[in-house]
Amino acid sequence: MAADVVIIGGGVVGAMCARYLAKTGRSVTLVEQGTMGSLCSKGNCGYVSPSHVLPLAEPGVLFKTLKSMTTPNSPFHIRPRFDLALLGWLTNFARKCNEKDMMAAGTALNAILRSSFDEYKKVIAEDYLDCEWQHEGILFVYRKASEFEAFCKTDDMLAEKFDRPARRIVGDDALIEFEPALKPGNTGAFLYDCDAHLRPDKLMEQMRASLVSQGVTLLEGTKVEEIVTEGSRFKAVKTSQGEIEAGHVVVAAGALSPLFQKALRCKIPVQPGKGLSITMKRPKICPKIPMIFHDHRVAITPFQTGYRIGSTMEFAGYDTTINPQRLSLLTEGAKLYLHDPVGEPEEEPWFGWRPMTYDSVPIIGPAPGVQGAWLATGHSMLGISLATSTGKLISEMINGEKPHIDPQPYAVTRF
Ligand SMILES: Cc1cc2nc3c(=O)[nH]c(=O)nc-3n(C[C@H](O)[C@H](O)[C@H](O)COP(=O)(O)OP(=O)(O)OC[C@H]3O[C@@H](n4cnc5c(N)ncnc54)[C@H](O)[C@@H]3O)c2cc1C
Repeated sequence: MAADVVIIGGGVVGAMCARYLAKTGRSVTLVEQGTMGSLCSKGNCGYVSPSHVLPLAEPGVLFKTLKSMTTPNSPFHIRPRFDLALLGWLTNFARKCNEKDMMAAGTALNAILRSSFDEYKKVIAEDYLDCEWQHEGILFVYRKASEFEAFCKTDDMLAEKFDRPARRIVGDDALIEFEPALKPGNTGAFLYDCDAHLRPDKLMEQMRASLVSQGVTLLEGTKVEEIVTEGSRFKAVKTSQGEIEAGHVVVAAGALSPLFQKALRCKIPVQPGKGLSITMKRPKICPKIPMIFHDHRVAITPFQTGYRIGSTMEFAGYDTTINPQRLSLLTEGAKLYLHDPVGEPEEEPWFGWRPMTYDSVPIIGPAPGVQGAWLATGHSMLGISLATSTGKLISEMINGEKPHIDPQPYAVTRF
């Protein structure tokens, strides 16, 4: 079997790479070990959020991280174990917790968040994707006055440096008038009306059908076991179903991408950051827009056809279990803020491994040691938000076209 481009991974990132490449007339084969969109791109919160320009590594975060490591059932948790790759990742993360690196990552994220948002509107319209896209904003809700005041400074900075102003809603009366699903007891909130949301499982379902109709060859239930090179050039991938020769390979394997770093002769410092969600029917008093309950690190998304509570971040390696205590952090958190926090029945507990880079910036571009090999991974907490522009960039670079945004900040050579 042969193709112009073979893509490893059928999550939202691999799917968007396939989409943009196919539009330019390239023959594309997408290889997915499970079914398309069955890992991290399925049960996430579905925010397409240009407001999320700041990386995880901020000044002061290190202390909070260390504290949370020793607090049982903290939404942010590192399972203590000896893991050299994780130790290296955490050391580099610690180095990035300063103003200068935070702003550099913010600038890199801002450019791709903006263009991705615009691209979503085009892709959804051109490919007729019925994925419950709603451009209604996201509300960041703060309970403690101290946290609200601290975020006021961040919000000022976001407005000044990144042109991302929020509408402030202060006090219970104003908040409840704006969102009657909220209980009293909050200090205030920030409405980022630049943000939208969609239903990620539906997006992936629709993308699957759309890619097939655009002539992309989908090989599901097929695992890429090896990337084969000839000298310094990519030659083929060996899969559980045989070999596929191609001119180019794009590694879009999400949190599993580091498995290919030896073959690609470069470091791919991605760690799985496990998050959880529960999907259910819409509660009777359903919030009208998505909300993040900052003090408890819980996010909720009202879809047109359902409702999801998600969040938590656990560095526990490639662990596939769902700890009921950690899962209950989601519903317990939502109960503090909402009159009707859960819809019945609770349909689907889910976990996903976020492909976390320590600077929160994705890795997009060539693998410098292997001609014809490309990386589209490390999208951390923003893979849905960044997927369209990632696909566009990969397609432009493979086709030798002028990139629509400067790809330099996303290069793997920064590590
Ligand atoms: C609780 C939670 C909430 C989140 N909320 C949001 C949000 O609101 N907005 C947002 O932008 N992001 C959000 N994210 C992050 C987002 O889900 C991820 O960044 C994104 O899904 C990553 O997409 P991906 O395509 O890189 O990886 P994945 O979706 O994991 O896809 C990678 C695919 O590669 C396949 N694969 C791996 N190895 C191989 C191999 N050897 N051969 C064949 N196939 C292979 C896998 O099976 C998988 O399907 C959230 C994440 C979590 C956990």
